[in-house]
Amino acid sequence: MMSLDSITLYLVATMVAALLGAMMVFFGSQEKSPALKWWGTAYLLGAASVALWTAAGDKLGAQLYLALNAVGFVACGMVWNAARVFHGRKPNWPGLLFGALGWAAAVTLLDPAAATLRMLIGAGIVSVYAALTAGELWSERRKSLQRSWPVFAVPIMHGCVLMMPVLIGSFLRPNDPHFSTSIWVTVFAVELILYAVGTVFVIFMLVSERTVTAHKTAASMDPLTGMFNRRGFAEACSRVIEREAKAGRPVTVMIFDIDHFKSINDRFGHPAGDEMLKLFSTVVTTNLRISDLSGRIGGEEFAALLPCSLEEGVLVAERVREAFETSGIVVDEGPVDTTVSIGVAGGPAGTELEVLLAAADTALYQAKRGGRNRVEAAEELPLSLENWRRQTAARLPVPRPATA
Ligand code: GH3
Ligand code: MG
Ligand code: MG
Repeated sequence: MMSLDSITLYLVATMVAALLGAMMVFFGSQEKSPALKWWGTAYLLGAASVALWTAAGDKLGAQLYLALNAVGFVACGMVWNAARVFHGRKPNWPGLLFGALGWAAAVTLLDPAAATLRMLIGAGIVSVYAALTAGELWSERRKSLQRSWPVFAVPIMHGCVLMMPVLIGSFLRPNDPHFSTSIWVTVFAVELILYAVGTVFVIFMLVSERTVTAHKTAASMDPLTGMFNRRGFAEACSRVIEREAKAGRPVTVMIFDIDHFKSINDRFGHPAGDEMLKLFSTVVTTNLRISDLSGRIGGEEFAALLPCSLEEGVLVAERVREAFETSGIVVDEGPVDTTVSIGVAGGPAGTELEVLLAAADTALYQAKRGGRNRVEAAEELPLSLENWRRQTAARLPVPRPATA
């Protein structure tokens, strides 16, 4: 008879979970997404504790074995915190540790022989974390109708599946001499693989949803570049600003204005100008992160909002400027200069988009005056938009070189 060795199956399951965890941590640091890093670390931690338990179960001392369970509870707490961080909330450190500490207390206080009671407490801790995770995702779900049940059902399953083998195992192992052939153990291992994969699917669905949701409405899109138009950009920005404000994080806005764009149209024709607009939108989106927003807010003007400090924003702007300069468009007549001037403005948590745009626009004007193809950062934010507009309305037009 052919049968899968369940220990092997467990090791495969935990390796899959660990691999997915590593992927999430990698993608999380790539995209600067702390939520993905939390989620990935939870996977790695959970996988490590289950793997260690599976591989060395019988040889582990009782103390170490219970400590491994505590690590599993920390992993559950991390999944919950991943959901918090994803929604722009701060990680809850006492909450992260309460399961493991409660477990340690229960283990110390309880009679070592009370295995069933221990198992119930363990299952209780997992349920609390699963409920907290689901609650976190559910509260956000009300705000966005796109969310569907898998989004909060999967974390519950995930919590259970991550911990159930440990709990069931601690229950079965001492009593069941045929542990390795137990059908349940096999079922759980297979489930572990399915849910580990399923959860990652949901996580990536959630992460991409932010960008996709607003793109669904044609009214908020620019047909030429496929980016947000001014309206879509403003709407998406207000959501991100609100979220970042809750977390007390700064936001940075930049306005891009292609240099001498009129002369591109004049020399090579409007369609060539359109091609350059498309090229520039690609340069912008490929140089931004998934958490950044960008849009075409005017003819040859683009804007971006980044959840980061002004200093970081200036680095990104510089990257875009350089990428566009070296993008190397060639027409029949030869290579075309592609340069862009960029104004950047950053503000503390909760700064309004209008204020940031006004300051970025002033900085952009300075970049144009300063010779174009450069990045300028706003030194200050307007205290009163009214006064600011009156001041900047009085400014002179940017001088053009005679050769343009
Ligand atoms: P500067 O360096 O000062 O920004 O010079 P500029 O020529 O880029 O600036 P200006 O604002 O004078 O010109 C913008 C031009 O962009 C004018 C308009 O014909 C062109 N434009 C606006 N929308 C589109 C479009 O959708 N497609 C094309 N091809 N051109 C456009
Ligand atoms: Mg312009
Ligand atoms: Mg221009």
